[in-house]
Amino acid sequence: MSRCADAGWSMSVPVLLTGLICLGVVVLARWVLRQRYFPGRESFLYMHLASLWWMAAAALELATQDAGCKQLWAVMAWPGIVGVPTFWAVFLWQYVNSIRQPLLLPLRLALGLAPVLIWGMAASNPWHALFYGAGTAPIADTPGAPVQYEHGPLFYLATVYVYLLMCFCLAVVVRAAVVGYGVHRRHYLCFVLVTALPWLANFSYVGFGWTLFGFDPTPFSFAFTLLAFAWLIVSVRLFDLLPMARHLLLEALLDPVLVVDPQRRVVEANPEALKLAGLHTSWQGRALEHWPVFGPALQALLERQASEDQLLVLHSSARYFEVRTRAIERITRDGAVVLGRMLYLRDVTQRHLDALRLAEALAVSEERLRTISSLHAQLQEQALCDPLTGLYNRRYLDEFFARELARAQREQSPIAIGLIDLDHFKQLNDLHGHLAGDDVLKAVAQHLLDSLRSSDAVFRIGGEEFLLILPGAGRDEALMRLQALCRALAGEPLPTRSGGQHITLSAGLAVWPQQGNDLDQLLQVADLALYQAKRNGRNQVVVAADPA
Ligand code: GH3
Ligand code: MG
Ligand code: MG
Repeated sequence: MSRCADAGWSMSVPVLLTGLICLGVVVLARWVLRQRYFPGRESFLYMHLASLWWMAAAALELATQDAGCKQLWAVMAWPGIVGVPTFWAVFLWQYVNSIRQPLLLPLRLALGLAPVLIWGMAASNPWHALFYGAGTAPIADTPGAPVQYEHGPLFYLATVYVYLLMCFCLAVVVRAAVVGYGVHRRHYLCFVLVTALPWLANFSYVGFGWTLFGFDPTPFSFAFTLLAFAWLIVSVRLFDLLPMARHLLLEALLDPVLVVDPQRRVVEANPEALKLAGLHTSWQGRALEHWPVFGPALQALLERQASEDQLLVLHSSARYFEVRTRAIERITRDGAVVLGRMLYLRDVTQRHLDALRLAEALAVSEERLRTISSLHAQLQEQALCDPLTGLYNRRYLDEFFARELARAQREQSPIAIGLIDLDHFKQLNDLHGHLAGDDVLKAVAQHLLDSLRSSDAVFRIGGEEFLLILPGAGRDEALMRLQALCRALAGEPLPTRSGGQHITLSAGLAVWPQQGNDLDQLLQVADLALYQAKRNGRNQVVVAADPA
């Protein structure tokens, strides 16, 4: 090594050019370092380093005049030669898949071991001559003439390894270009082109012996590739722009948004979320349940693991939020791994209060409607019923009779009507008072109701006058029933507030269709019969005579 340091050097144009490219790579690396973060940036920078190593070794090989030293620098180049495609593969993999975590340790060790092994194989060539063959020699006798290498089996082994890495790189970018779309696809298509260039350069060197300054053109093409990649990444800014835009969106959102990790620690919160919690500093990483205002309630909500949106009620501030949770997952070969959860709180206070108010108003109007309906029913009932006795009054009579008449006509059956008037009722009133008279009226009504059949009906049509309608009853049956009723009433005293009172009734009986076609005719006829009963001495039933 020290012999080579002292050996003659020649600053030819190719050496200067290679040195310049080395400088270019350093400047490029510094510039990339100052750019915003992008996935795989470390690998990208290491790739610069490996490329620099390779180029520097190439420059030294070009510059030294001694053939043995040229071979030494060629051997020294190998960590760079294998390092470049290694870091390139890692970088592309991380960049294309947006992977921000470093590679797993075993994989890093395996990838790091290969360059060292290959370097060892090249360095130990003098002992085995399996890397460079015995035919390796300068192409001319002049000092500084380039060395032509005879490639041994170990060299080809190393080449195969490097080619495999490059195949992997190509596959990664081609796949990204195929599955991508729009601006992503164009971006990756450029990647494919730029990736293919060193491939071609290396292939033409190894396969066809094509050289640049009598030298392997691959490191030069890699330097170009680095430049092109840096330009592509920085100019397109895809992987910068989208997260930036998303971040800005989060900042601008008027609703609180939080991101929690699997341990329910808050790792991201937008200004609106901080405002709601009243936090300004030292919130990052704080457990969700320890967040002021909404922490415990939100934590409890998350524990419920409901799939749909849930309502978060903040009693302290009387605010309502609709909480939408979305799992943040990374898809791996073994399935999805939950990295955390995004919590989106939509302020629905106004909507919720409106809904509550509406529900309240609805309940009130429903209650009112119920009251109105029941009042209406009561009124209807009252309109048709006599308040003292509870019997139907005259108003319902026409409707009831019309219905019964229609049925009787259809079924060819008779209807009997009994017009009843209490005897000497005025006298009872005068003797025992009007209230006792009312009691008698109520008791008589009950007596009449008790002796009715389900199809019969009784109406109070005047002060102490009642009308019995007996659908289906003919003359004889009606007479029998009315007489039984008359006897039963006369037979026992009625309870009143002035003690038991005896009362009798007189009744006139008329039957449809024999004694009249309609209610008016029948009432008229029955009234005549009733008059007859009174005249005959009361407490009796008289059947109306058939019209002549
Ligand atoms: P008769 O029919 O046997 O000829 O004699 P009467 O005393 O029953 O005759 P009238 O028809 O003249 O009398 C009816 C009485 O009924 C007159 C009125 O004071 C009484 N009356 C009418 N409506 C009511 C009422 O709602 N309550 C009470 N207590 N009495 C009433
Ligand atoms: Mg009367
Ligand atoms: Mg009377």
